[in-house]
Amino acid sequence: MLHPVDNFLNLGDENAFAVLARANQLAAEGKDIINLGIGQPDFKTPDHIVEAAIEALRAGEHGYTPAVGIPRLREVVAGDLKAHHGANISPDRIMIMPGGKVTMYMAITLFGKPGVDILYPDPGFPIYRSMIEFTGARPIPVPLREENGFAFSADELLSLITKDTRLIIVNSPSNPTGGVTPKGEIDKLVKGLADWPEVAIMSDEIYSRMTFDGLEHQSLSSYPELEDRLILLNGWSKTYAMTGWRLGFSVWPESLYDHVRKLAVNSYSCVNSAAQFAGIAAITGPQDAADAMMVEFDTRRKAVVAALNELPNVSCVMPKGAFYAFPNVTQTGFKAKELSSRLLEEAGVATIGGPDFGVYGEGYIRLSYANSLENILKAVERMGAFLEKNR
Ligand code: PLP
Repeated sequence: MLHPVDNFLNLGDENAFAVLARANQLAAEGKDIINLGIGQPDFKTPDHIVEAAIEALRAGEHGYTPAVGIPRLREVVAGDLKAHHGANISPDRIMIMPGGKVTMYMAITLFGKPGVDILYPDPGFPIYRSMIEFTGARPIPVPLREENGFAFSADELLSLITKDTRLIIVNSPSNPTGGVTPKGEIDKLVKGLADWPEVAIMSDEIYSRMTFDGLEHQSLSSYPELEDRLILLNGWSKTYAMTGWRLGFSVWPESLYDHVRKLAVNSYSCVNSAAQFAGIAAITGPQDAADAMMVEFDTRRKAVVAALNELPNVSCVMPKGAFYAFPNVTQTGFKAKELSSRLLEEAGVATIGGPDFGVYGEGYIRLSYANSLENILKAVERMGAFLEKNR
């Protein structure tokens, strides 16, 4: 018998992958499945980005790169943060990562241990809680409420900080709700944090370029007073439809940077070299493909929310970012997980039950509109027929 350390008993999972596996299995059995469960754009990476990777490979960029990423890419990221958020971030604080997720892994392992509290959004990306529990720290959920458009309330978040809090995690635009926290709340949070100088903040801004109605994403990187405690998580996965490339970046306080560099050296050495060249092309090249993707997401967003609001006993607030709708299904008579699973098995529609994103996700299901408009509308129609039949 082997004896891995007990921490592994606490490690969670991302149910979206299990739903995807079940949906694929049903499809392989010949069932007509519409997948609204998956959290990745249904677009291809724009051609000029793919070409940049191919060119890098042809040019012989086959070796290790610095663990923190190639210097040119870190400079380009710093320039992008300046251009979009007015942030003055030195490339020396920027780390290129194999995807956005690794930043949360490192941040939570740097701070998490028994006796420590870590605050995280609920409903929220399931890996936050999973990793917090893995480290033995206490997970403290910060509720995202429908009546606030699923934005966090700065007052509520600040009221949960105690002398044991070491890290708080925020995520706007939010997965799974599509909520975007307004600038006023973020200003208030930053001001309140002045009373807690030993609390670090990780801002997951992976959907920062995916906002609607002309709304500007407010990045925590634009607050110089957070310089010595901000961990910024972002990347290319969603903005440029590059989930499989595994390319992300993060910003770290100077005092943590070398720890993180060493974690990289001790684990993956560096990020895939060709992907880093693709990352440069993505930021410095034309943005029209990324912009066109957002126009398409916007059309689908309006259509899916309108269609959901026509369903019996379902209501859905208009999400302001990301590519998820998070309808309230409390009035349907179903628990959210049961509804989600029966929709897959009986109506051929894959969604994710809200409780997979935390206790405050009960009463909701997540629909990703990373699918064609035709399929999305067909899926909602099937949901309607299912709910009529099971009223
Ligand atoms: N953060 C949030 C909120 C996400 O939804 C995701 C992916 O679904 C990630 C981070 C991870 O991004 P990546 O694929 O770049 O690791």
